[in-house]
Amino acid sequence: MADDNSEYSSAEESGDDDFIYENPVPERRRLDQSSPLHGYQQDLANFALLLFKQSLHSRSASGLQDIRFSHQGVSELPCPFYLGNPAKHHACLKTKLGRIIDLKRHLWASHRRPYDCPVCNTVFGTAADCNAHIRRRACVKAKRIPLETLSEEQLDRLSIPNGENQETEEQWASIWRIVFPMVEPPELRYDEKMREVVALRQFWSQEGGRVAQRFLQEKGITSGETCRDFKALRDSAMDIMLDALAQSDGAHASRTP
Ligand SMILES: [Zn+2]
Ligand SMILES: [Zn+2]
Repeated sequence: MADDNSEYSSAEESGDDDFIYENPVPERRRLDQSSPLHGYQQDLANFALLLFKQSLHSRSASGLQDIRFSHQGVSELPCPFYLGNPAKHHACLKTKLGRIIDLKRHLWASHRRPYDCPVCNTVFGTAADCNAHIRRRACVKAKRIPLETLSEEQLDRLSIPNGENQETEEQWASIWRIVFPMVEPPELRYDEKMREVVALRQFWSQEGGRVAQRFLQEKGITSGETCRDFKALRDSAMDIMLDALAQSDGAHASRTP
């Protein structure tokens, strides 16, 4: 399948968990302020979202229902934090988690416990800064905020490779048990919002080039395709669309552990 997010699925094989925390998920390219295409990303996103919604309607009613995790077809793994609390963790949907290692990296990048002072809750950029602050003992005790984040111990356990012969579903369940030890892992499933986001990623990887080209032609920008910023324009528009879908109230309530 054509997939433009090649930077997300490059070199490493799923077994290379040693490198899991050394190669953070790369950011998408952003349109430079000086680009002639800057300023068009929002319009393109609106234009493309409309086409996407139309394409959803033209599918059979079951078209969206059919999108779920499978080895052959769509394989996006839901983040356990998202499944646990979709309203709070909708930002998880913005990253395509195609493989176990993508999920582990996402957990590290987005859900690790910050370096925070246990007395005053102040967050620091590095462990050293945090420790220096704690040693100074100069802060005032604040009410402890319960954190929905992963401890270093949990991250250490996540970095241990799963059995090579394990099915992805089993590996996902093992990850769930590390993240939420008190809650049995649910079935690997998508809720309505996640199905929409997965469908949008498919739509954009298959149609994004054509849609963006048509959009630029309608705006009278004919050199769009050859412009080096074309890809950045598409990525920026995708970010805007993902934000719009992920934050919409479309999804039905899911269970909260
Ligand atoms: Zn997440
Ligand atoms: Zn403090």
